[in-house]
Amino acid sequence: MSVTVKTILAAKGRNVVTVGPTVTLADAAKILHQNKIGAVVVVGMENRILGIFTERDLASAIGRIGPESLEQPVSKIMTANVYRCTEETTVNELMEMMSSRRFRHVPVESDGRLSGIVSIGDVVKQRIREVELETEQMKAYIAG
Ligand code: AMP
Repeated sequence: MSVTVKTILAAKGRNVVTVGPTVTLADAAKILHQNKIGAVVVVGMENRILGIFTERDLASAIGRIGPESLEQPVSKIMTANVYRCTEETTVNELMEMMSSRRFRHVPVESDGRLSGIVSIGDVVKQRIREVELETEQMKAYIAG
């Protein structure tokens, strides 16, 4: 049976750093820095996902518009068409989504609400755990 997002969330927790749509890019940058993360999910009422804003968007806005973009609300710069997953999504499906679409963050949704987030770092950690477990099982098998 393939490993799912549920396993990743059980290990890392379901906390997600979120911002409202009117937060400025400068404040969003502060939040990314303070939490040592690469993305915030932009949410509206009842934790409904409105968009995602990542360090890539911050760099693009400064490169494209200039430092004055730091005063703009995240709603103007965020990606509104957010690819999501559920707890039942497999790690293989996640890897396929992240690599083909070239993003490193996927919010998890349950019943239309945000219920977690998986980053490419979480996926790599999970893969390492799986490989280590397989190695241990092989060693035990060989040792009889
Ligand atoms: P990232 O690699 O996650 O920093 O994101 C690269 C670009 O893809 C940025 O423009 C993000 O806003 C966008 N992005 C990140 N995650 C997602 C997602 N799950 N769905 C849609 N766009 C995303």
